[in-house]
Amino acid sequence: MKASAFTYARATSVANALELLTAHGEKAKVLSGGQSLLPAMNLRLVAPELIVDIGELAELRGIVVKGGIITIGALTRHADLLKSPEIAAHAPLLTDAVAHVGHPAIRNRGTIGGSLAHADPASELPACMLTLGATIIARGPSGERRIAAGEFFVGIYETALEPQELLVAVELPVSPRNSTHFFQEFTRRHGDYAIVGLAAQAFVEDRQFADLRLGFFAVGDRPLLARSAGKLVGVVITPAALYEASCALDDELDPLEDQQATPAMRRLLARVLLARCVSSLLDRPDLRAGASA
Ligand SMILES: Cc1cc2nc3c(=O)[nH]c(=O)nc-3n(C[C@H](O)[C@H](O)[C@H](O)COP(=O)(O)OP(=O)(O)OC[C@H]3O[C@@H](n4cnc5c(N)ncnc54)[C@H](O)[C@@H]3O)c2cc1C
Repeated sequence: MKASAFTYARATSVANALELLTAHGEKAKVLSGGQSLLPAMNLRLVAPELIVDIGELAELRGIVVKGGIITIGALTRHADLLKSPEIAAHAPLLTDAVAHVGHPAIRNRGTIGGSLAHADPASELPACMLTLGATIIARGPSGERRIAAGEFFVGIYETALEPQELLVAVELPVSPRNSTHFFQEFTRRHGDYAIVGLAAQAFVEDRQFADLRLGFFAVGDRPLLARSAGKLVGVVITPAALYEASCALDDELDPLEDQQATPAMRRLLARVLLARCVSSLLDRPDLRAGASA
């Protein structure tokens, strides 16, 4: 299929993009890498009257590390994240995660801003933003807004962004040197969207978690920062403790049914990932098989 007829405008500056978005509101759509927007238009899932192409705005591209904060411009491509020494050194979870986004052709065009604004609940980067405690920076007609990742994702393909706003950057705290991380997802084939995934970051002291952040994806209508992680912090992890945390996690999930999996299958896979994560981060192979009562 082909997209409905639309008008195309190439923004010459952020100010120009905001003028166009303000003038056209919900009838306009921002175009970044086009890896999600163009397929959706071709399938006629969306039919914007105006496309505002921000692809040439160099000011929205790049990675800067300063004062313990990593600032990533919205137009930074997945491929740039993947090969960035700054990201590998200061947010290694993101390096691991972005390798799972689609295929090289997708990663060469797709951008972090597009991925977050698209807010696919099965997407890797939104969950990483929750785990890493990111702040999303949006600019609109009345200035700049800073939105905590936990407030940004509000439903399937829905975010806290207003139609007149542009996602301009993301800020992440530099991951402390003594933190560790875990990333895994279940997919049918490498590069597919996840059936269930987990992006985690932790501090381990004396073989216990001093802190643990578990960002699950494809387990509901948005990524989930699991509160049940708290049950695993500051305690010696026994199979019974892991079982209790698994049950608490299960209560937090609200998985959807689709062609890939039933909700029951997703619940099971989330438990498997939790066990693998805890086992890997604590270097406890005895916990990998999972939790028992
Ligand atoms: C075959 C295939 C496989 C894929 N596999 C995966 C996968 O495994 N994991 C995954 O996460 N993604 C996957 N994707 C999607 C891909 O990662 C996209 O790159 C990403 O979701 C969107 O980034 P983009 O820059 O292409 O955004 P676009 O397609 O340009 O835009 C996506 C949406 O975000 C809005 N938008 C874009 N930029 C901004 C901005 N700066 N401010 C406000 N709104 C904005 C657009 O208006 C649109 O609604 C896949 C895509 C394809 C085609």
